[in-house]
Amino acid sequence: MKILLKNCRCFHYSPTPVTSVVHIEITDRTITNIFDTLPANFSSYDRTHDFTGLEVFPGSIDPHVHLSYVQGNKAVSADSFNTGSLAAIAGGTTTVMDFVEPCGTAVETIQKRVNTAKSEKCFVDYAFHFSIANVQQINLIEQAAKIERSFKIYTVYNGLKIDAAADLHSVLSEISKHKCIAMIHCENDQVIAQNIPKVKSIEEMSTVRPTWNELEATTRVLTLAELTNCSIHIAHVSLADQVRIINVYKNRYNHGKVTCEITGHHFILNNGLYKTHAHKEDLVMSPPLQSEKDVLELQQLLREGQIDYTCSDHCPFTRRQRNGDFAPFQAEETKVERKFYEMPGGTNGIQVRFIATYSTLKSANCSLEQISKQTSENVAERFQLPLKGRIQVGFDADLVVVNPYLDTIFSENVRKERMDCSLFNDMKFSGKIEKVFVRGKEFGVDQLEEGSYLRKLL
Ligand SMILES: [Zn+2]
Repeated sequence: MKILLKNCRCFHYSPTPVTSVVHIEITDRTITNIFDTLPANFSSYDRTHDFTGLEVFPGSIDPHVHLSYVQGNKAVSADSFNTGSLAAIAGGTTTVMDFVEPCGTAVETIQKRVNTAKSEKCFVDYAFHFSIANVQQINLIEQAAKIERSFKIYTVYNGLKIDAAADLHSVLSEISKHKCIAMIHCENDQVIAQNIPKVKSIEEMSTVRPTWNELEATTRVLTLAELTNCSIHIAHVSLADQVRIINVYKNRYNHGKVTCEITGHHFILNNGLYKTHAHKEDLVMSPPLQSEKDVLELQQLLREGQIDYTCSDHCPFTRRQRNGDFAPFQAEETKVERKFYEMPGGTNGIQVRFIATYSTLKSANCSLEQISKQTSENVAERFQLPLKGRIQVGFDADLVVVNPYLDTIFSENVRKERMDCSLFNDMKFSGKIEKVFVRGKEFGVDQLEEGSYLRKLL
């Protein structure tokens, strides 16, 4: 199958990086030509599209999702690899990075997760961050580092946390030795544990996590990463001051060794929802939503390129799950009265992240180059995802086509994510996705092929 996409305004590499209007040839799953002038034989293509007036981006890459994720209490996040990947594609995301939690050797652990993705029919390509949940699991790093590029560490959550400085130092040293990346969820576990008993109702849940809890943990982790010369990625920043702290270390480190990401909910939504949102259980997440001032400053930091890319941290649970049922929809209703801190936590965003990022950057006249990088290329570069993140000959034909003159209203009838309601409901974003190509297949027109694991298992 040969497709010609005519008049694509995009940031591309052909081979030097430039933004211009070009004609993109796709053969099967690959970009095979980028023409400055329309080829004379263009009638010989199986299909042509004219994208005059539209903007084309590399398929968006979400570096942080939890599909079919079993949380400690055995609830499984409501989007499977199947439903989550279809929601992702509808929102312009064609590659995701999910997580593996050790079970057996590193190879067995990854193989099991790949099997889950395959059995559930995942339609986007995927790679993983390898979670290290305690200092004993250090011995998995050597083998895992031959397959994956990054290790997830949490400084909070019982059963997952590595928060003692000596333990963190050991784990970061080992990751550094294998020239991989530590991706870290930074919060102060002691502060949270001390605050939980003081909270009387779910409305007050965000007070458990005062802002300094994240700032302290981020500083601690960055100090240890610098001491161990470990390449570090700070997960889901939620505070402008946190980004400023990260910048201090970015400037001291060799550039490129410190990166950070922000979720759609942290740069769009604010903590006013804890008062106004009817179903408080929808808001159980960490880090919590922050002040409107922080949200506005974070948008500015994103536009200035001080936040490397956006993610979703997509990990939705239904209200039934939060309140006691482990299955998202179909289980018999139970009457377990859960406290908010016992509820499975996380929210949606896999479908809305790309257009929310586009809208936030475009409203400040950021370039197509910057949008391409912060939604796709920077992630591919950071985690070495092969043939992803660029419009370039030889790269996968993952593309998102956006109409800059229309808006997107994120209403219930377009939502594919599995939650009772989206926190982004009825929000308006500038730009509208017109088409998505997933490895050469046109979403909504062609039969999609299943995605693949982007690494080689040993
Ligand atoms: Zn997460």
